[in-house]
Amino acid sequence: MSKTHSRQQLETLAIHAGQPAEPVTGAITPPVFMTSTYVQDGPGGHKGYEYSRTHNPTRQALEANIAALEGGQFGVAFASGCAATTTILHTLSAGDHVVAGDDLYGGTYRIFERVMKQLGISVSYVDPMRPAAFGEAMRPNTKLVWVETPTNPLLKLCDIAEVAKLCHAAKLPLFVDNTFMSPVLQRPLELGATAVVHSTTKYINGHADVVGGVVVTSDVALHERLRFLQNAIGAVPGPLDCFLVMRGAKTLPLRMGRHCENGQAMAEWLQAQVGHGLIERVIYPGLPSHPQYELARRQMHGPGGMISFVVADGRLPALERAVKILRQVKLIACAESLGGVESLIEHPASMTHASIPVDKRAELGISDGLIRLSVGIEHIDDLREDLAQAFASAE
Ligand SMILES: *Cc1c(COP(=O)(O)O)cnc(C)c1O
Repeated sequence: MSKTHSRQQLETLAIHAGQPAEPVTGAITPPVFMTSTYVQDGPGGHKGYEYSRTHNPTRQALEANIAALEGGQFGVAFASGCAATTTILHTLSAGDHVVAGDDLYGGTYRIFERVMKQLGISVSYVDPMRPAAFGEAMRPNTKLVWVETPTNPLLKLCDIAEVAKLCHAAKLPLFVDNTFMSPVLQRPLELGATAVVHSTTKYINGHADVVGGVVVTSDVALHERLRFLQNAIGAVPGPLDCFLVMRGAKTLPLRMGRHCENGQAMAEWLQAQVGHGLIERVIYPGLPSHPQYELARRQMHGPGGMISFVVADGRLPALERAVKILRQVKLIACAESLGGVESLIEHPASMTHASIPVDKRAELGISDGLIRLSVGIEHIDDLREDLAQAFASAE
């Protein structure tokens, strides 16, 4: 299977990569190898599997599948996106420095600021829209560059190819969190990144029933280090979770197509309401009003399903209006997370980004009226109707 990867298209890889028929029974679907250990003929007489923290066939199938989708050689799966991030950061030592974009997933920011800092690792945050800023922030002890694009929740874009050039010149590895796009809409390795990080919890699994993470790279030394740390630290996913993520990944290309169609239609509908009292601004990479619309068209294979919009002050302050909308939605669920088949709506300032200090939030532009919408794959008419009735409650 693997030898034909490069010639196959994503729709095919999603279904077949890493999934040869099971050799004993011919099962077409990789079985859930629900086992902690493997019987040996005698000491050392094993078949390549000794203990499931180290090796598990279901996990290996998932790792090969996602690696193929990202166009990378190696996948390393973790128990969550945060476990993937934490394990990557354990390639660093006390005294090392990281350069990262300043509009990060809240949990990633928390790992940097409240876990890694106390281990002696420092981070400089830069404006991801300005590639040169990454170069300017590099120091002699910088060991790693971290980028998220589009960012969460402000959907700022980072020019991956430009930042990759700077990283190559400085001989630094570039990690790109590709969670918001999935490999269907953006492939950072092709743009020069060293490794791609995913919370598979989101689009890759897509069914809101698993928490997971994965790292993909073609760098042999990095892969070996991550493989060692995966086993040594032990933040591995269970086989059933791996099975579910693989099952989700089979329909990833189909789902992303619908996420993009619904996202574009919803963003245009919201944009048409700007200036009529409730909505102040819509942020979506598929709208020509997005400040980096050209980069979006160049770097991404579709605008995705994430939309942010800002509610204006009216008779009620923006915060109260935003809360009313989130209480009033009926079909769209008020919940954290994103990327599932079902539409979710959330309020970053009080939910996903509450762990970021108030002054820092204000500095970043995460205002009290900001609402983030993860557009699912339901019928667009039903989604618009639900938002329209929720907006009416906030007039
Ligand atoms: C959710 C998310 C993460 C963290 O993943 P978990 O699976 O929740 O640990 C990291 N980055 C981004 C962009 C995310 O959306």
